[in-house]
Amino acid sequence: MPLERTDSSRSELPLSRARELLEDKRRHLLERLKDDRQEVEDVTDRPPLDEGERSSHEQLASYAHGRSEAEHYQLREIDEALARIESGDYGACEDCDEPIDGRRLEAIPEARLCIVCADQGVSRGRYATDRERPKG
Ligand SMILES: [Zn+2]
Repeated sequence: MPLERTDSSRSELPLSRARELLEDKRRHLLERLKDDRQEVEDVTDRPPLDEGERSSHEQLASYAHGRSEAEHYQLREIDEALARIESGDYGACEDCDEPIDGRRLEAIPEARLCIVCADQGVSRGRYATDRERPKG
């Protein structure tokens, strides 16, 4: 069956570009994870001077831990997206099977859901991690 251009407003992200974006993101994440670990080690390596410092150590450690949890999660999502590129499943929504818009993939290359399903998921309280977060 020949492919038809049914929707000219739909943009597609070439797989080579998707892979590039994912690998780039992966690299940044790995660097950030390393920095986080370093940051905690730098501070917690020496014994705290007093109670106040002890609690700020603990805060920092748990903050960095939470952040690295989120980063590990994202890393897994990226790895899975790369696996989907290999298997040819990349770019299809896991919920409705519709192609995910290229502009969305450009922003979130590891996205599993199209914008419609992601919005529904977020409003239902699911897929909160797939929400588009502001950079920074
Ligand atoms: Zn969908």
